[in-house]
Amino acid sequence: MTARSNFVVIAILLGGSLARAQNAAVQQVPGRRMPVQQVVMLRNARVIDGTGAAPQEHVSLLLRNGKIEQVGGAEMAAPAGAQVHDLTGKTVMPGLISAHSHLGLIVDDAESSATGYTRENVTGQLIQYERYGVTTILSLGLNRDLVFVLRDEQQAGRLAGASIFTAGRGIGVPDGAPPLLSAADQIYRPTTDKDARRDVDEMAAQRVDIIKIWVDKLHGKVPEMTPEIYKAVIDEAHKRHVRVAAHEYALEDAKQLVADGVDVLAHSVRDQVVDDVFVRSMKQHHVWYVPTFTVDESAYIYAQNAAFMQTPFFQQAAGAKLMAKFSAPGYAEKIMQDPQTAQHQKDFEVGQKNLKKLFDAGVSVGFGTDSGALPGRIPGFAEHHELALMVRAGLTPLQAITAATGENAKLLHAGDRGTIAPGKRADLLVLDADPLVDIGNTQRIFAVYHDGHNIVDLPGRTK
Ligand SMILES: [Zn+2]
Repeated sequence: MTARSNFVVIAILLGGSLARAQNAAVQQVPGRRMPVQQVVMLRNARVIDGTGAAPQEHVSLLLRNGKIEQVGGAEMAAPAGAQVHDLTGKTVMPGLISAHSHLGLIVDDAESSATGYTRENVTGQLIQYERYGVTTILSLGLNRDLVFVLRDEQQAGRLAGASIFTAGRGIGVPDGAPPLLSAADQIYRPTTDKDARRDVDEMAAQRVDIIKIWVDKLHGKVPEMTPEIYKAVIDEAHKRHVRVAAHEYALEDAKQLVADGVDVLAHSVRDQVVDDVFVRSMKQHHVWYVPTFTVDESAYIYAQNAAFMQTPFFQQAAGAKLMAKFSAPGYAEKIMQDPQTAQHQKDFEVGQKNLKKLFDAGVSVGFGTDSGALPGRIPGFAEHHELALMVRAGLTPLQAITAATGENAKLLHAGDRGTIAPGKRADLLVLDADPLVDIGNTQRIFAVYHDGHNIVDLPGRTK
C-alpha cells in the first residue's frame, strides 16, 4: 500500500478521529503526489459550474491529466479504460477558493504560535483545506520564506494539499497591526516610504501573488499605517505589476484606500453602514470586496453552543484540543463577559448589511474567511460556514458559491480554475445534496478532486 492510498483510507474513516487521521497523514504524506492519474468519467451529475449560471442536470465530465477535458450530456462516451462513476443525485461544483486565509499561525487549530510556521504544520493545514474541498487558498500575509519553497514543490507536483497562492510577508506597522505573534522574517514594518518601497520590491522579486497591507488602528489602541506609507506601497507594487490587498475596518480608511488605488479590500467595512459615495467609488475603481464574516463571528459563536458544533464535519476540523477549549468550564462565561464580544457582534451585523448593499449595487464580491489567523478560524470548516454567513447576509446560495469559485478565480487572476469547463483544472467538490436548496449541503462532501486526484474517496464507487 502506498503512503497515498493509506492517506485516502485514513481520510475516509469518518467514524473515527479525523484529527488523529490528520496527524497520521501529516507524518506520511510530505513529498507525495499520486504517481498515476486515472482517466475519470463522472456521469449524470447536477453541475453548478461556478459562473453563476443555473445548474445543469445529467452532466458528464471527463477528467484527464489533472484537467477537465470534456463536459457533455448523457450521450458522452467513456474512453476505454476510464474509471466511471455514476453521480445520480449528486451535485458537482468547483473546488472552493479562499482569497483570505493564513498558514502556519496556529498550531493544532488551538493556539497562536510565533514558531508554528514549519513545514509539518503548514503542510498539515494545506491537507486539511484540501480534504474539506478548499482546493486553492491565498495565504494573505505573515508567511515565512518557507512558503516559496513549498509553492515550488507543489508546482512540481511534490507536495500535497490545497494549492498555494501567497502574499509573502506583507506590510504592517511598528507596534501596530497586525498584532499577531510572528517570527522576525514573517512581516515587514517599515517606518519610511522608502523602506516600504524596498519591502515591496523584495516581495515582487519573490513572485508574490499580491501585496498585503494592514490599515487599522484597532479601535484607537495602536498607531495606524499612514497614507504616505500605503500610497508608496500601492505605487511601487503597481510599477511591478503586483496588486495590493488591504486589511481594513473603518469606512473612512476604506474610502481613502480605494481612492489611492488599492485593488482588494480584504475584510468587511464594519464601523458603519457604507454610503453611496463609497459604493460608487468601489465600482468606479473596480475594487474587490472580501467580507470574511468568520473574523467577528468566530470570536463569540462557540460560546453559544451553536448546533453546527455537534457535527463531525465541524469537530473533525476543529480537532481535539480546540474542542476541549470550547467545552472547558468557564469558557462560555469568559467570552460573553469579554467587552470585545459585543463589539464583534455589532461589527458582524454591520458587515452583513454592507455585503448585501455592495453586492446588490454590483460591486465585485470575492470570498475569504481569514481562516488560520487565529484559533477558532478553522481551516476548511470556516470556508463552508462562511458561505452560510453570506447567505444569511442576503445572497442566494448560488451567488455565494459563485463568489467562492468563479469570481474568486478572477480575483486571483487564476483563469485556470474556479469554473467547470473544458481545459480548467479538475478541482471539484462532489456533494450528496444540492447546496442551492440549502447552503449547508456544501458540508455533505461525497468526494473531492484536486488537480484530478481523488482526495476524499468515493464510497461505493463503481470502478
Ligand atoms: Zn488575515
